[in-house]
Amino acid sequence: MTMPRPASRFLGGLCLSLLLASCASSSDGSDLCGLGSGSLEACMTQLGGLLPHPCEAQAAATCEGSADTSCEPNALAECATNYYLRGYQPESLPPCDPSKPNVVIGQTLELSLFRGFGISDEAVVEHSQGLQRYYELYQLTMETRDVAAPDPIENALSGTLAEFNQALSDAGIPPTATSLTPEQEALAESVIGKVMFAPTREFLQRHAVPAEAKVNVAAIDQILSPDVVDLMELDGTVVGLGLSPAVIARTSEQDDSTQSLNTMLELDEDFTPTLFVGHNDIARLTGNFDVVVAHEMGHALGLVHVDDPGNLMEPYVTDNCRTWLSQEQVDMMGPFSDVTPTPDDALSRILQGRKNLLRRILESR
Ligand SMILES: [Zn+2]
Repeated sequence: MTMPRPASRFLGGLCLSLLLASCASSSDGSDLCGLGSGSLEACMTQLGGLLPHPCEAQAAATCEGSADTSCEPNALAECATNYYLRGYQPESLPPCDPSKPNVVIGQTLELSLFRGFGISDEAVVEHSQGLQRYYELYQLTMETRDVAAPDPIENALSGTLAEFNQALSDAGIPPTATSLTPEQEALAESVIGKVMFAPTREFLQRHAVPAEAKVNVAAIDQILSPDVVDLMELDGTVVGLGLSPAVIARTSEQDDSTQSLNTMLELDEDFTPTLFVGHNDIARLTGNFDVVVAHEMGHALGLVHVDDPGNLMEPYVTDNCRTWLSQEQVDMMGPFSDVTPTPDDALSRILQGRKNLLRRILESR
């Protein structure tokens, strides 16, 4: 999902310095984030473990002395569901199209929540509550079994000019080449895609395989790193990314994009549907958290883009009215037996961005 190109850019380094500062000042001062052994990832995990979530504390207190081993997990699930998915303010936007009937999904969906590098638990709540607020109307009830897990992911797509050049060189494309044969160009695009999608690929490897019957929801800093934004020359800002086996199958057979996405993500056919929201871009560009996370959940549930004003699955953000879903879209959600590929403009644009990126690399030589 995209927004118009922003005038200014978020300073990504801030979170890093704040985190390192809090590492350095941890009370026991020991080897927690030590220069010798502590990777950033370990540091994140350790920090998350240092600060018990209110729900973890509550579940532990509720079940203290209980012989029932399911007491604490159940108490945690109940508390986390209330904390992240209930108690929100009601919808305040008018419907984009009041003539559209209220369709019913009528399902319960389990979520696993994640907060990326530098993202607070409160930020996750903005997205998770917004998600439930949007889908409440369609009777899709969401639950979660645990508190939002910290994860080192910062961007879904990243990479610097130096990293792209190194990968091209490793793949046998001479570092001085300024024009490529068609074969080299195809190889170069594949290599660039793999570098660019590395953070998403690694996140999926950590959390989406083997596939489970739930959806991963990750609030991260920005979908595209500032370097990638520069190099891709996209017309707008990508503020969310939703992935599922069904949506990949449905957007196949255009520009070899399925093969291309599967190669970049190195995915088996089945994986847990996963969505990313770029918290800081959304906060800066719209302040309406519901619209992006609800749209990306559409992708996670298998929906592709439509060109239909006011629909949830329009590729651009509609944030001044409440978007709608059709019965046909509800019928496409869930496990799929009939997956018909449809062309997808937004995916084509990402792939065009990859071409732009390659052109910029060659021009810079
Ligand atoms: Zn989309």
